[in-house]
Amino acid sequence: MNEIKLFAPGTIANLSCGFDILGLCLDNVGDEMIIRKSNQKGIRITKIVGADLPFETEKNVAGVAALAMLETIETGFGFEIEIYKNIKAGSGIGSSAASSAGAVFGINELLGRPFTNKELVQFAMQGEKLASGSAHADNVAPALLGGFTLVRSYEPLDIIKIKSPDEMFATVIHPQIELRTSDARSILKQNISLKSAIVQWGNVGGLIAGLYTNDYELIGRSLHDEIVEPLRSILIPAFDLVKKSAIENGALGVGISGSGPSIFALSKGKETAEKVAKVMCEVYDGINLPYEIHVSKINDEGIKVLNSN
Ligand code: ADP
Repeated sequence: MNEIKLFAPGTIANLSCGFDILGLCLDNVGDEMIIRKSNQKGIRITKIVGADLPFETEKNVAGVAALAMLETIETGFGFEIEIYKNIKAGSGIGSSAASSAGAVFGINELLGRPFTNKELVQFAMQGEKLASGSAHADNVAPALLGGFTLVRSYEPLDIIKIKSPDEMFATVIHPQIELRTSDARSILKQNISLKSAIVQWGNVGGLIAGLYTNDYELIGRSLHDEIVEPLRSILIPAFDLVKKSAIENGALGVGISGSGPSIFALSKGKETAEKVAKVMCEVYDGINLPYEIHVSKINDEGIKVLNSN
């Protein structure tokens, strides 16, 4: 195999109660990438379509993740990477993670799979470090493994994949405002009360239990964020109204996607997810705020190979 074309999916991190530890993988929202072997050693980004991103290997998350991987394995050749962007950087649906995960996944395939997808997470995290300053795994893990993922521990890295309940759909609305990840991080408090922590870990446990038992009601009750959402949601226009409208129209739960500004809802069944999309759009139409809207089944597979030769 000399060349591989793949779908690098968008992801939703945090999932209300799981700040920095939970994430899920989207199905029809994502980028495409082509990775090919080259006689020239090293990594080169040769094409970027759909976004204004750096071509220098060390400044593009795809390049940084790929270099981290190549440091651990000897190859007699190099790789060229083409990125076709659909996910806007800074949207909160894992734009940087899609590129980081796609690069290491594609190279691993071309090398005959020396690493498992779980092992690739550590390399993809280096791309995230470039994008946000912290090597977090809550977007790259679901991109590489699919379904829902839990980062039980960062040191040592311990990631658990949880299969998605069959009828689970996500609705994601991306209001077209700029919200810098650094601003969304700086608004957070470094300490939390024991009382808040108890509420939060109760919900994390509830959400995981609900996912394993396909208990949609329990999942809905557990999609509550005691700690981050009350602080961050003030940065997102009409957050409370979007959330209220979605819940009233059948969403199981609603929260901030990653560090925002996108808002996600989880629903049982496509019909409900589409109804939720409609009422979310109505809120932003009402205040003349442009947006992008996505309805997606949860992608249990993760990154997909589109073709190879
Ligand atoms: P998201 O939350 O949607 O993943 P981030 O804010 O985490 O977005 O990441 C976007 C940042 O990463 C931007 O500063 C962008 O310039 C940088 N970046 C570098 N390479 C890429 C890439 N290939 N894809 C997306 N973002 C990239």
